[in-house]
Amino acid sequence: MSLPYAPRFAFYDGKLQSGSSTSSFQTIDPATAKPIANIHTTTHAAIDSAIVSAQKAFPAWSATPPIERARILQRAAALLRARNDELARIETSDTGKPFTETSTVDVVTGADVLEFFANLVGGGGMNGETAQLRPDAWVYTTKNSLGVCAGIGAWNYPIQIALWKSAPCLAAGNCMVYKPSEFTPLHSTVLAEVYAEAGVPPGVFNVVQGGGEVGAYLTQHPSIAKVSFTGQVATGKKVAGAAAGGMKYVTMELGGKSACIILPDADIDQAVDGAMMANFFSTGQVCTNGTRVFVPEAMKSAFEARLLEKINHIRPGDVHDPNTNFGPLVSKPHYDKVIQYINHGIKEDKATLLTGGPDRPSFLSSSPAYHSGYWVRPTVFTSCTDTMKIVREEIFGPVMTILPYTSVSECISRANATQLGLAAGVFTRDLSLAHKVVAQLEAGITWVNTWGESPAEMSVGGWKQSGVGVENGKRGLRLGCGIRL
Ligand code: NAD
Repeated sequence: MSLPYAPRFAFYDGKLQSGSSTSSFQTIDPATAKPIANIHTTTHAAIDSAIVSAQKAFPAWSATPPIERARILQRAAALLRARNDELARIETSDTGKPFTETSTVDVVTGADVLEFFANLVGGGGMNGETAQLRPDAWVYTTKNSLGVCAGIGAWNYPIQIALWKSAPCLAAGNCMVYKPSEFTPLHSTVLAEVYAEAGVPPGVFNVVQGGGEVGAYLTQHPSIAKVSFTGQVATGKKVAGAAAGGMKYVTMELGGKSACIILPDADIDQAVDGAMMANFFSTGQVCTNGTRVFVPEAMKSAFEARLLEKINHIRPGDVHDPNTNFGPLVSKPHYDKVIQYINHGIKEDKATLLTGGPDRPSFLSSSPAYHSGYWVRPTVFTSCTDTMKIVREEIFGPVMTILPYTSVSECISRANATQLGLAAGVFTRDLSLAHKVVAQLEAGITWVNTWGESPAEMSVGGWKQSGVGVENGKRGLRLGCGIRL
């Protein structure tokens, strides 16, 4: 059967490698549940070849003056922007996220980070430090490229993740072997072609295809100097453990169960908009989602009333239509997992279901093309308690839990009572209170009166079990994927 997209293979030595596989699987359009491309799993021998290709490219690439590497990567950023809508359509088909999101966020935020790191190294970001000890004695440090790094991606922001990993890595003079998630691999070889067109030499950016087994082989490979991983906490523990066995550097960008705190003086409209952004954008499949929404007991009924009104503005539908702002979940296994959590919330946790639930969304009755897709309803549970499973565990779907509180200090200690610490945020008119609360929150990323914004110059990374190291910002050059000082 002919499929809408060309088959995906490994990419190394500057080209697609059609002989890199002996088995294949299909990637699925989550909106329709129809296959859209054959993906060829890279064999161990071909992964070895990709790593050798990167090793061969490393001496010349790392010796290329940073300003020249910067020029090449800036060209790649410009090519990505020129092809924004084409790439966004690929991401929409692969992830199910509406084109209104992928065309304004996914490629844009990836290209911005590439430009940021190109400019950073072009502007002296690779320089070390000097200190004069005595008139005739100095000490100095240098920043050095590490070698061949592995990047392993999750499925929720495919091209953005590939760029957030490869941008600092390549800018700092390293080479990369990248493995996309097996659920959303389409972008990977297109990105490799964009890099090649921009002038990135063969072997500097390589792609291998497949699932966890391919990722595990890459992680433990003795020629890999660093592993930059994005995914679940449980997988991250395995990957970090395997990397530690080889004394490799790691960056771990893992899951969260973040607290979105509505302070007593908050503007209700702004707070509801923020809570919706923190729960329903990308159908809730965002690592930094603020799924534990703390609302003052006295504001609870007004907050819920406004939320129920605004939820009517969520529009599922044709994911390529400019009017659609809510897509399906990414895959059948993920759909099953989210529905199980919703059922658990109703039957076992006995939380109060304010809206949504496990039933199929009503728009499907007039959209036969989408009947088999992985569609769910935006769901809100209220009057939740901290011990409920739906409050404790990352669901990674559009499931908001409202937790009433009576005092700000009680709210802060409950917000921190989790093993995860990716993000947190507050909504308030009182900025000095905002800073006082934020200072006490145990999370790597904190927002005030907004949610989810992540410009290239801002480092992102989790505390506690949500990760190790950061991506983006100046610190991302050293930790994101790359250099040693
Ligand atoms: P996952 O852990 O299931 O898979 C992530 C990647 O790891 C995939 O490419 C997978 O093939 C690979 N993998 C699986 N087993 C492996 C192994 N043993 N060794 C090496 N690689 C292996 O995660 P997912 O379901 O794709 O992504 C969703 C998760 O990612 C959520 O928990 C989300 O919070 C997290 N996430 C975090 C960030 C962040 O920046 N902190 C960003 C996006 C997503």
